[in-house]
Amino acid sequence: MFWKENWLGETCLQTKFNWLFQFDQDKDAKVSDRVTWVNGNCEFNWQWCREPSGRTMAELSTLIELLNRYPLGSGNDSVPWKWQMAANGVFTTKKLNNIIMEKVYACEKSQPETMRNYLVPKKVEVFIWRARKKRLPTLSELYKTGVDLHSVRCHICDNDVESNEHALIFCNLAFDVWSRVYKWWGFGQYVYMSITKTFAGIVNQSNSELGANIWRAVEWTCGYILWKNRNSKIFKNKNSCAPSLLNEIQILSFDWISKRLKDPKIEWCSCLSNPQIYLFNSSFCYLSIIGLDLFFAR
Ligand SMILES: [Zn+2]
Repeated sequence: MFWKENWLGETCLQTKFNWLFQFDQDKDAKVSDRVTWVNGNCEFNWQWCREPSGRTMAELSTLIELLNRYPLGSGNDSVPWKWQMAANGVFTTKKLNNIIMEKVYACEKSQPETMRNYLVPKKVEVFIWRARKKRLPTLSELYKTGVDLHSVRCHICDNDVESNEHALIFCNLAFDVWSRVYKWWGFGQYVYMSITKTFAGIVNQSNSELGANIWRAVEWTCGYILWKNRNSKIFKNKNSCAPSLLNEIQILSFDWISKRLKDPKIEWCSCLSNPQIYLFNSSFCYLSIIGLDLFFAR
């Protein structure tokens, strides 16, 4: 609507030119009822109940000036906007998302292989990128930007300041969860590592690139769940224990990986009982049967 919707400038025209608005016969007139752009020039079609004069005339002059500056002069009112970042001029959030992701990855040229993982959703890739850049809005980071906080201590353990590392690695609960994830994968005792190392998905014993990718997807899911849990604690005061978080990680990582990995298929039983098989063989079919046996043998 010409007057009532905010389409030109920072406020709607009704607010900005209130005297003039009162003079319009149709308060709900559309933009196209009042103005058209022909070859870059404005053509007006006013319908005043009284001819503007004095103060309203002054408002009308300002309004006309504003409309003349409006970049709609493409000559075709039905396709007024063109998004310059796409060849066809059409804006889509998907395209914008891709552009942002390309920029993000371009910043990480040194380690591109550890930046992407097609086995997890894009939101998780972005989350891990932010974590590695120490750009998660932890309490200490918020405090640095001037946010007034009651405390910057970790809401979960209250042992230390909540930094990116603390939330995802050093917190008691995070350490317990990481230890369980390592045990699940048969890696022995988890030792503290930096965020970059933790999410790099490095496995010495793997001879399968796909297997390393799967493990990295699990690590990233773990980080993502720890952060979600941290938010639930802060915003909903919800407490979770390490076994239930491990459970969530197992279910979510299996769901993400199995949906994205068409061949070879991973199976829930082997994934749960013997994920090590992924690290040593890129074809899981035969080995997963062994995994299944192991699962039922327990
Ligand atoms: Zn903590």
